[in-house]
Amino acid sequence: MIQKVLIANRGEIALRIHRACHEMGIKTVAVHSTADADAMHVRLADEAVCIGPPPAADSYLNIPNIISAAEIAHADAIHPGYGFLSENARFAEIVESHGIVWIGPKPEHIRVMGDKVEAKRTAAKLGLPLVPGSDGPVEGLDEARAVARETGYPVLIKAASGGGGRGMKVVRSEDELETQISQARSEAKNAFGDDTVYMEKYLGDPRHIEFQVFGDGEGKAVHLGERDCSLQRRHQKVLEEAGSPVISPEERDRMGGIVAKAMADMAYRGAGTIEFLYENGEFYFIEMNTRLQVEHPVTEYITGMDLVREQIRIAAGEGLSCSQDQISFRGHAIECRINAEDPQTFAPSPGLVKNYVAPGGMHVRVDSGLYAGYRVPPYYDSMIAKLIVYGSNRERCIMRLRRALEEFVVDGLKTTIPLHQKLVQDPEFLAGNYTIKWLEEWLGRDSG
Ligand code: ADP
Repeated sequence: MIQKVLIANRGEIALRIHRACHEMGIKTVAVHSTADADAMHVRLADEAVCIGPPPAADSYLNIPNIISAAEIAHADAIHPGYGFLSENARFAEIVESHGIVWIGPKPEHIRVMGDKVEAKRTAAKLGLPLVPGSDGPVEGLDEARAVARETGYPVLIKAASGGGGRGMKVVRSEDELETQISQARSEAKNAFGDDTVYMEKYLGDPRHIEFQVFGDGEGKAVHLGERDCSLQRRHQKVLEEAGSPVISPEERDRMGGIVAKAMADMAYRGAGTIEFLYENGEFYFIEMNTRLQVEHPVTEYITGMDLVREQIRIAAGEGLSCSQDQISFRGHAIECRINAEDPQTFAPSPGLVKNYVAPGGMHVRVDSGLYAGYRVPPYYDSMIAKLIVYGSNRERCIMRLRRALEEFVVDGLKTTIPLHQKLVQDPEFLAGNYTIKWLEEWLGRDSG
């Protein structure tokens, strides 16, 4: 039995976890930096412990301080949320070695999936379709040439330790190969301290489609359908949908089945997301995230399941709450990520929230720690709210989303609400006709 959870995070996700805990009768401990003393997650938690000064490296990433906070507060479990320490295998091990329940996957699975080359090898062994490319790291130029000839140009050089789209280079022909590899290596060395690179066929115009999975850690696993996260700017997701406008129920069942079987075979525990690129009707595995995703609420709407509750149940050893045939998909959901940023230049816009009115009504959910009088600190991610809307079909969902965006008031800061308002009027968006390149082109069109 878990009685008290320490939430090792901040902002909307800390609140999200707090809410699930209280609905399960579990007490919560918030941790916060000195910059977050007035934050909503601190106000609502049963207890709060300050873990350091504003920079994340000294507070939300400070493992000794977080473990001390858990011991002082007698928390029996830790939920890491997303970002910060959520995919740090070492942290997961330390938590478990202190006799505290880790609400997350097994540390060895976090480690394997955190290394992109190992992740691809594991995915291949589990029968997931991969982007064609090198089998592991690429050592010399001759090997790189051979791989590229086999897959065909263009190819993509990727950093094994990469993240956030950094250290990636597109190579269009053989004469560019040598310089691009050495550039990719030096960028990877600078950014991640590791110059290991590998190669993949560069897909011209794919969608980003990911599957939500849960495993009990003992060989049972289910999938909760897909999300389409193709609308991205600089590899950052902007708006997500469940389901994807281009995936049929049959295709969801087929691919979801493959993914769930893979997770069952590895005895995966907890929540995970398998990310694919999707082009011409084919899926290509790119990576797996061993944590809760920002965009999990769209899956909650179409399945009626509470994903944080499911994570806590599994961590407590109670297993999955349902079998695959008890999971069904209804209607359509869309999430807009609202950032404190100038909607044209994307320059961060932290500061005082003078007035705040969140939209409401049927099937409208706002996950946010904002309130009037709150000062958005400049130290962290600029996402200040998620607006999630449900409809019985995609068209109704979009009509409701437009209505909800009209109601949303955040005064005092610049936000990306106007960008979403424009986006949900666009005919190509309405038709569901977009790929991972579409949003950046659309934004360029807009300013031109
Ligand atoms: P990171 O961990 O750095 O975000 P990913 O492997 O998830 O790296 O890739 C980031 C993004 O780069 C993807 O969402 C996609 O937009 C693009 N991308 C990755 N691999 C390919 C590929 N083989 N072909 C085309 N685009 C790709």
